[in-house]
Amino acid sequence: MMYYNKEQLKKIREKGEEQLKELEKENKGGRYKSAADMEIVCQHCQHDHFEKGEALLNTRGLTFLDLDWLNGSAITLACTRCGFIHWFAKEVQRVEE
Ligand SMILES: [Zn+2]
Repeated sequence: MMYYNKEQLKKIREKGEEQLKELEKENKGGRYKSAADMEIVCQHCQHDHFEKGEALLNTRGLTFLDLDWLNGSAITLACTRCGFIHWFAKEVQRVEE
């Protein structure tokens, strides 16, 4: 049997709340800036939090379309509110909150 005093219980609870906040942060995504130094806002619903992802672009198709500059991988930002996916061929930067 283990006993905790009031102070210890308080610490345990605070730690739990911190971890919960971290998890919530992950779930609501983050804010991002494009290579043009503009903060990214959802084109569909104007929300400003996104989940970042990466997608491989189809090389042959892009060459055919004369879009070789796009070759490689693209950054995708999915709006955490409506799910609209934004595509970027250049790196985006996370904005610290
Ligand atoms: Zn949206």
